[in-house]
Amino acid sequence: MRASLKYLIWVLCASLWATLCFVLPDFLDNPVGDWKALLSVLIYILSVGIFQFFIICLIGANKYICATLLPIYALLGSVCSYYRVFYHVSITPLLLDAALHTHIREAAGVVSIWLIVWIVCNLCIAITFCTLRWRKIVHSLQWFYWLIIILGMVIYYMAVPRLKQALKIRYPLNIIHSVKEYVSDLNRPSVMRVSPYIVNSDIPDSIIVVAVIGEATRADHMQLNGYPRSTNPKLSVRQNITSLSNIYSQYTNTNASVPHIFTRADSINTEYAYTEHSFVDLLKNAGFYTAWLSNKNQVKPYIDIMEEADTIVYTSGARTQSLYAKWLDGELLPLMDTFNKKSSRQLYVLHTMGSHWLYDTHVSDDLCVFQPTVSNRDIRQNSIEQIVNSYDNTIVYLDAFLDSVITKIEHYPAILLYLSDHGESLGEGGRFLHAQDNAPEEQYPAALVWYSDKYKALFPEKIEALHKNSQRYYRTDYYFYSILYAAGIEVDGDNTAVNIFK
Ligand SMILES: [Zn+2]
Repeated sequence: MRASLKYLIWVLCASLWATLCFVLPDFLDNPVGDWKALLSVLIYILSVGIFQFFIICLIGANKYICATLLPIYALLGSVCSYYRVFYHVSITPLLLDAALHTHIREAAGVVSIWLIVWIVCNLCIAITFCTLRWRKIVHSLQWFYWLIIILGMVIYYMAVPRLKQALKIRYPLNIIHSVKEYVSDLNRPSVMRVSPYIVNSDIPDSIIVVAVIGEATRADHMQLNGYPRSTNPKLSVRQNITSLSNIYSQYTNTNASVPHIFTRADSINTEYAYTEHSFVDLLKNAGFYTAWLSNKNQVKPYIDIMEEADTIVYTSGARTQSLYAKWLDGELLPLMDTFNKKSSRQLYVLHTMGSHWLYDTHVSDDLCVFQPTVSNRDIRQNSIEQIVNSYDNTIVYLDAFLDSVITKIEHYPAILLYLSDHGESLGEGGRFLHAQDNAPEEQYPAALVWYSDKYKALFPEKIEALHKNSQRYYRTDYYFYSILYAAGIEVDGDNTAVNIFK
């Protein structure tokens, strides 16, 4: 048999092993409700499998490189696939950070005998492939084969942007990508921001302010705003809730919207989002203990705003959008107790996953009240009924989440301002998800305010103004001024057009 044919068969067998052992586990929890969903998952696995083919081609091109890299490839693949299946985690910059700062004794707690068995099995397979490579295919590949493989791999990776994105979050590129992100984050230059001028300050001695930043929840699916379905069963019967039904968001993606919401930025002075401190910094300087509790992945565009807080805690850990395991905002709740009583003035920022796709993963099973829900990981392959059911379930979950947050703080002088970063398209004009700036359904996010009786006793005039303004049109610019004013701080630029409490 010709050497090149032998080599091709060797590569095909080795890439089949890598696909089955290191790629397939990543897809085991993908929803496959019908044959279309199954087909789409199989195509995805095949696409990542083809990339394994190119990599094994390169690793095996020289027998010395093969003997060195193939066992390492097997070792890393075994570890990633094991934790993916049993712990539902993927390699992310956050996971790398956690791993590098974990004490050896804590790390030992997540190493099991089955992990060792899995690694040893794959190492044995890798060594078998190396032996075959040495004994049966003696020669290294000639230079033009190398060239063809590298060219093919680059074209395959670059040709389709969607495929490139998909490959970046799968083994082995997820490791390279996460290390790159982690290192670039370590080397991030610090940003100089200035503080807006404080005009007036009248802060109570004891107050809790909670800023809940939602995700992709639209105003018109809130029962509080007249949506006919029971999406807010708990908040609807609560006292002291005011829904803001007419809030406009200029931005329809998180990274652009969040810095805008947290700072004095508006449609004219958009640069303030990146040159001025946020309300977190202003409240910290006013004696608030500030904690940013995030259920989102780590992000660069507003990391310096997050770092204004005394404490940042992530509950998202090693989850990524490609995981189908539960990723619930409820994990933020116990953290609020951890920081309680640090100061008589407290600010909590709760950054939630809210109504982000994949909707079902952000809803606990008991709150999936609207059925049937989505059955395909590709949103377009589901019916509108399934999509809306799953989406509305995320709002039922939000309702329960906010209700639980309120229960924790209702006996204090406390105020909670909830605002989603943008809305979501649910099939209107053939559009889905978000980040399409001219889609009206994405530009009207859900927003509400809750206040305790003790807070109302402190600032009755602010509550009266809030009720008067609840139907009024505001841009998301209102959030910065209003949350500060609710805490007792008035900054330069504050006026009735940007303040719901005036
Ligand atoms: Zn968002």
